[in-house]
Order: sequence, then C-alpha cells, then structure tokens
Amino acid sequence: MWECATSKRHATQHLPLDTSLGGACLVVSGPGLVHALGGMANANMNCWPVVVIGGSSDRNQETAGAFQEFPQVEACRLYSKFSARPSSLEAIPSVIEKAVRTSMYGRPGACYVDIAGDMVNANVDRSKVRVVSCCPPPPVSLADHGAVTEAISVLKAAKRPLVIVGKGAAYGRAENALREFVETSGLPFLPTPMGKGVLPDDHHNCVAAARSRALLQADAVLLLGARLNWILHFGLPPRFNPDVKVIQVDLCAEEMGNNVRPAVALLGDINAIVIQLLECVHKDGWKYPPDTEWWSTLKDKIAANAKISQALALQTALPLNYYAVFHHISQLLPQDCIIVSEGANTMDIGRTMLKNYLPRHRLDAGTFGTMGVGLGFAIAARSKNRGQRIVCVEGDSAFGFSGMEVETMCRYKLPVVIIVVNNNGIYSGVNPETWKELAKVGDLTTTAPPVSLLPEARYDEVMTAFGGRGFLVRTLEELRISLELSLSDWERPSLLNVLIDPSSDRKQQEFPWLTRAHL
Ligand code: ADP
Ligand code: MG
Repeated sequence: MWECATSKRHATQHLPLDTSLGGACLVVSGPGLVHALGGMANANMNCWPVVVIGGSSDRNQETAGAFQEFPQVEACRLYSKFSARPSSLEAIPSVIEKAVRTSMYGRPGACYVDIAGDMVNANVDRSKVRVVSCCPPPPVSLADHGAVTEAISVLKAAKRPLVIVGKGAAYGRAENALREFVETSGLPFLPTPMGKGVLPDDHHNCVAAARSRALLQADAVLLLGARLNWILHFGLPPRFNPDVKVIQVDLCAEEMGNNVRPAVALLGDINAIVIQLLECVHKDGWKYPPDTEWWSTLKDKIAANAKISQALALQTALPLNYYAVFHHISQLLPQDCIIVSEGANTMDIGRTMLKNYLPRHRLDAGTFGTMGVGLGFAIAARSKNRGQRIVCVEGDSAFGFSGMEVETMCRYKLPVVIIVVNNNGIYSGVNPETWKELAKVGDLTTTAPPVSLLPEARYDEVMTAFGGRGFLVRTLEELRISLELSLSDWERPSLLNVLIDPSSDRKQQEFPWLTRAHL
C-alpha cells in the first residue's frame, strides 16, 4: 500500500498518482529537509497523504553547530499535520504508525518523522520494542439522515441546480455511486481541474464547457469534495449567484462554511454520502427534467464555446496556436492515459481541450498552483501504472523547473511522453527575430522582457542527451508523426518540443482566471 519513490532531485514531488493511498519520502538532514518542505507544503495543501522521514544531526551535538543542524521538527510543523521525533529507538514503530495513520485519517495530509543520526547507527534489544501493526483504512462515516433529506429538498426546489465534482470525490472513490446519482437525478455537473475524469468529460450531463455560466447562474450547488477556495472563486459574486444554496459534502468539519455558509452540511465520506443521496432519489423517483430553461441555457453556451474553440483548433497557420496543438494531441491520446499537466496557458487551455475519461488520471499544479511538479508526478505515475501511457504536457517555463528529471526517466527506461508546448517564455516570450533585434539594442539581460526564455530552446536535445527520443515539432504533420512514434514506444521516454506562436493566447474569457474582488 505504501510506496517510496526517490530520485536524486525533488524526491518529495514524487507522490504516487493514486493519492488516496499514501506516499513515503526519505530525505537527508538540513538542506535535504529544507528542500522537502516545498513538496510537503504541496501535498498538505492538496490533502494528499505522505510521510516524510528525515535524517537529522546527532542528539548530543544539538546547539553545538553540528553538520547540517537545523530545527527540523519545528520547521515541518507549518507544512504538515503532524511532526515529531521519536524519543527513543523503542518508540520508532509507534511514532511511524501514528504518522501513517494521521496522514490518511480525517483530511489527509503530510506528516514528518525526524530520525537523529545517532539513532540510525544505534542498536536496540528487539524484545523491548513494542510491535505496532499498520493501521486499518480510515473509518467511514455517513451524513446525518435528516440532513440528507434536506439536501434532496434543496435540489428538488432548485430551478438551476449544479453538481460540482472535486478531487475529494476522486480520492473518496465515489465514481460509481456518483455516476448512478447523476444519471438517476438528471443533474448537470462540472468537475474541478483534478475532479476531471471522476465522471467522463464526454458524459452528456457534463457542462464543463459552460463553466462560467453554470457557476454564475446556479441557484443550488451540490459541492462534492472541493473547497470554495480560489479555484472555485470562493463561491461568491462576481462568479457565483449571491443567493446560491450550497450543499457541502466533505469529511472535514472545519471546512464547512468557509467563505459561504452552506444551506446543508453533509459531513462524512463522499462515496457513502452519495449512496445516501442516491437512496433518497431512488425512493421517491425524483428526476430533474431534461427540458428546462436551465438545460437550454447551458447547452446553448456549450455549443457557442465549442464553436469558438473549434475554429481556433482547425487553424493550420505556422507557428501553431495552443488550440490547434491540443486538438491534434487529443485525437491521438488513448482514453486511459494519465495526463500530467503544468504551466500557465498550457495547463489552462490543455484542461479544456484534453479530455479525461477515468478517475484519478489527471495531476496538475493543484491547489497550491505549484510549478515544477510535473515530471516527478509523471515518474511516480509511471512506477505505479505500468500498462498505461503517461503523458506529461508542460509549458516551457514549467518544464524548466525540473527538466533534469528526464535523466531519471532515461535511467529507469520509463516510457513517459513529455510534450513541451514551447512559446519561448513564461506566459509568453518573443520570437527569434525579435530576440536578435533586442540583442542589437543592448545587453539582453536588460533589453529582453523578464518573462522571455531563450527562443526555440532545444528541450528535445535534453532528452536525446540521456538516450531518450527527442523531436522538434513545428507542423501538425510533425506533431502527429512524433506523437504516434512516442506512443508506440514502451522502452524509453520521449520529448516533443512543440514550437508554437509566442503570441498565441487563451480565447476571450468572460472573467479573469483569478478572482481579485474583495471578499
Ligand atoms: P479541488 O482541487 O478539486 O477543488 P479541494 O482539494 O479543494 O478539491 O477539496 C477536496 C476536499 O475533499 C477537501 O476539503 C477534503 O477534505 C475533501 N475530501 C477528501 N477525501 C474525501 C472523502 N473521502 N470524503 C469526503 N471528503 C473528502
Ligand atoms: Mg511558455
């Protein structure tokens, strides 16, 4: 059940893809642990269970300036749910059991156990150690029966109901019950970025392509395992109806009422609660009608948005735009592939264009908006899912954070397909001609925009340097051929360096991606 994924770099970012199970990470003392803090923060913010075990300096040298001495237990406290050092060798098993259990029970998160250097080399009398067996899976709790009935009344009274599927529903393995609930109740749903795939993106009740409209006009929202944080615009105007009735489903009681007071709070396990809701719906045979004004509004908006994306996707002019690249990638990807995605436009546009059909098959920058995690995620995903394709779609800037992980992929012959959507910069860069002009005007360190990266950098050659396959892609034909070749190779990783128009942008949005209005 527990997996330890390590590599030379960024070991903590290698979380197993199936984050309902736990991950473990071993790090060295001092700077090793300090580097792990970023990964711990990322795991904790995303509610992912992980146990970090750090070596630390010898206890009898504490305060004396020992090698890599650092207040590690204290440092980890901000980045974890639990941080401790066993008081003796005999205490190690029970502290580890507590760390594992704490990482998974309640709202999952990161836990830290500190092992002093002198403990590593010491011996213990086996008979003095209390054997502690591994904890059982987290206990499951149901929501209060009255609250479930009330939730169904709120849904029945709604004119414009909406189900929002968060990543909590993915980790709660609610996919089967949820599918039955959505199909029985006839309700429209939309997923959050990592809730994608719990129900397939091409499901006829999915209104993701009308996301802004659905959020803005819904009068009742069934919120399944998603926080009303920045990803969901805090559940407040201008992105939500001020009178929206929220039915909040979460296993964390403290989450209830964050930003919006729920009309009904259903505390407990998502899968169990969706089954409770389903039983209610089955009992009275209620179904939200398919011929309402709400459905027409949503369907019209979906059709209008699809038309705009389609027009951009079918453009063949060079250099390519994002939509054309993603449209052609999506046509070749197998439905069961695991998609890892990070970047700015690359992640935002990729999320709408690349479909997910299965739960827990997508990882991205997540709740913390962390860049640099993609390659580590892809490695972890590959080590747990041998028969599946792992496709890692990276912006060029995001790739730069941990691009050297291609060495790890080549070392272990992990056939990950990396697609770098290269627009020469962070958000956007400049084309090679402009870059040359800037160099003529003066020193590039002052003349080049700070968001630009080296134009047409050969990321594909980073991959070939270690023995993987690298492709430089400018045209749709090159994209198709290189992606087909990469997807048929199970022996080694590939990297497609897809050069796109640096001025390519997201299609016009109704609202900016980040809500900045005062709460
Ligand atoms: P998203 O990124 O999809 O918006 P969040 O990470 O904000 O999702 O929220 C996930 C929520 O799901 C958290 O509030 C967490 O407490 C909750 N959660 C996780 N697992 C379960 C589960 N098995 N049952 C109920 N709630 C869960
Ligand atoms: Mg870029």
